[in-house]
Amino acid sequence: MVAATSEAAPADLFDKIISLSKRRGFVFPSSEIYGGLSSCWDYGPLGVELKNNVKAAWWRAMTQLRDDVVGLDASILMHPTVWHASGHVENFTDPLVDCRNCKQRFRLDQIPGAEVLEPGEPAPEGFVAGLACPNCGEHQLTSPRQFNLMFKTFMGPVEEDAATVFLRPETCQGIYVNFENVRVTTRRKLPFGVAQIGKAFRNEITPGNFIFRTREFEQMEQQFFCAPAEAEQWFQHWRKVRMEYYLGFGVAADRLRYRQHGKHELAHYAAAAEDIEYLFPFGWKEFEGIHNRTDYDLRRHSQFSGKDLSYFDETTRERYTPYIVETSAGCDRSLFVFLLDAYHEEPDKDETRVVMRFHPLLAPYKAAVLPLSKKPELAALSRSVHGQLRRFFPTDYDETQSIGRRYRRQDEIGTPWCVTVDFESLNDQAVTIRDRDTMLQERVPIPEVAGLLRSRLDALL
Ligand SMILES: [Zn+2]
Repeated sequence: MVAATSEAAPADLFDKIISLSKRRGFVFPSSEIYGGLSSCWDYGPLGVELKNNVKAAWWRAMTQLRDDVVGLDASILMHPTVWHASGHVENFTDPLVDCRNCKQRFRLDQIPGAEVLEPGEPAPEGFVAGLACPNCGEHQLTSPRQFNLMFKTFMGPVEEDAATVFLRPETCQGIYVNFENVRVTTRRKLPFGVAQIGKAFRNEITPGNFIFRTREFEQMEQQFFCAPAEAEQWFQHWRKVRMEYYLGFGVAADRLRYRQHGKHELAHYAAAAEDIEYLFPFGWKEFEGIHNRTDYDLRRHSQFSGKDLSYFDETTRERYTPYIVETSAGCDRSLFVFLLDAYHEEPDKDETRVVMRFHPLLAPYKAAVLPLSKKPELAALSRSVHGQLRRFFPTDYDETQSIGRRYRRQDEIGTPWCVTVDFESLNDQAVTIRDRDTMLQERVPIPEVAGLLRSRLDALL
């Protein structure tokens, strides 16, 4: 598939996407009748279809189509020592600053003037005196303190320190601790990868930008175990494969880029890290990262668990701790990219046609059956067409308002094909299929409709 390039995005795209998401049932604010819960969002009827499609597409590309990757679904709650081994208990912190005057809290890097400090460098005594609160302007900011971003809870009936467990802040640790289980049960030799989709939780000080940064989110992660000498080669492989993936789903090439992490940004265990960024309405931001994590993870889990996680390579007769090349994608962020990138406005007579040009494999509905009128004689045939299509893919049925309005409604949720049943259909047993992108219409015999649309979807696989 040829990569698309973007048309100019409307200036208020961000607001338009939030509004469309709410109006059409893609994304709702969480607990909205109670005033919402900060940065928590619910996927509505169309959103859950889109999200399931985003996950299915990733899963298919990362497991089904590969000889060298298998799947896993680990639990959210893990042994607390996992998070000591991973370094999260000690290091997964953000420096937090309080304003004594207005009681607002900020991440240190949000305070104008604080950027002269290197990340991770301890703040010199008294420097906050010179900095003003970005909210109220008063010079009453406290010294920064380290705030751990992991959500804590208690396992069992007693709320005591010994019963503390964490909601996982990343899914990959569930893969590392299962390395031996997967290797032995699948009789795999290195290199191989393990893919997982699941929820993760981070108690971010400043979430925001709709579904971009949330405290509860879903990750799509793949961890590729390989020989140390081959890690760089696999890193190059995966950075290329993951970019091609998004281009293959039609994301505009000029809104995608790589960004290599500088030396000072690299996590202490990482040999290389590169982000895939999208040009969001609020700037270039990461939505997937590819990381060479070295042997850090398995080495640490060997140390903390006392279990030997090294690997004996029969070809080279060497024993080593495997290196890991990780591809870590945000599911909600990918979905956000697909939402933003799909949004198009075009003049249509004296109105504006809003079209979500989702890749058909990602579109919530693949087709909609629209009887030209509500008259009962059309209903039976229309219901029968609907019944034929919905066996194979999600198909909407809409009989209210004018046919023009109904086309618009389907365009706005990205349905690739509208199937219109008219009075002529009663005689010729054929329907009109309208294409979302070209708006061209073709007459197709009813018995051929399901096969035709299926073959078009299959051609995109
Ligand atoms: Zn303040």
